Amino acid sequence: MYLSPTIANCLKQSAQLAEISDSPRLDIEILLTHILQKNRTYLFTWPEQELNVEQAKVFNEFFARRLTGEPVAHIIGQREFWSLPLMVNNSTLIPRPDTELLVEAALGLFGEDEGNQSRRLLDLGTGSGAIVLALAHEKKSWQCVGVDKELAAVELAEKNRMQLNVHNVNIQQSDWFSALSSEASFDVIVSNPPYIDLNDEHLKEGDVRFEPLSALIADNNGLADLEFIIAHAPQYLTANGWLLVEHSYDQGSAVRDLFATNNFDHVNTLRDFGGNERVTLGRKIS
Ligand code: GLN
Repeated sequence: MYLSPTIANCLKQSAQLAEISDSPRLDIEILLTHILQKNRTYLFTWPEQELNVEQAKVFNEFFARRLTGEPVAHIIGQREFWSLPLMVNNSTLIPRPDTELLVEAALGLFGEDEGNQSRRLLDLGTGSGAIVLALAHEKKSWQCVGVDKELAAVELAEKNRMQLNVHNVNIQQSDWFSALSSEASFDVIVSNPPYIDLNDEHLKEGDVRFEPLSALIADNNGLADLEFIIAHAPQYLTANGWLLVEHSYDQGSAVRDLFATNNFDHVNTLRDFGGNERVTLGRKIS
């Protein structure tokens, strides 16, 4: 039976995505808002509107790609993070909503007045630039640096910086701290490093299959990069400077121990939207 390519009929195709996606309807809504350049309210308001020939062709192509499991963010080349539209590609992680917790925690470190003073912030393994761009966008008085060891990620983060018109961020290529001057010092260091174990079953499902392992996995049960960052951060922090890291739901206790043995106090772990331990922070003891 021929179905005219209306918005409603496109949305009906979500049933076919049930096998590969946890959010089939939302996936199609996002594909449609991208193709039609309209917001989601438009889709609900005009379900009978037909896609033109070109739009229908693009929709069919996008839908076929989604059926193979390709992430929606890669298909449209974009993912929203902290309400900012970020370009994404397969060189790095697709920003996750849980990571907004890290942004929120960093913004909450200082009281209203104090937080609006000039601060220096470093984002290690910035990827698309999601964390550092969200923070710099919120705090125009902060001077921020985002580093990544992958050149393709550095290029992507820089493109995002330019597109979002953020001027208080410097994006650089660096393997963690390696390219920073030994004199560099920051009030806040944040990182969402790779923290998954290579043998984790979770790597075989969903969007992660399309993301680079360099952004996902770490040795030592996923703890190796967290260990390195927590051990070296004090050298690059000002007196009373803060370190905040994202980690796996089952690494909270190990990460708190690492903070405690590396000269941090005020160590605290925050839970994500799913109630899992996700972000740990601590203040350098000076
Ligand atoms: N939280 C992501 C996931 O579980 C992984 C992010 C990371 O390794 N930094 O898919």
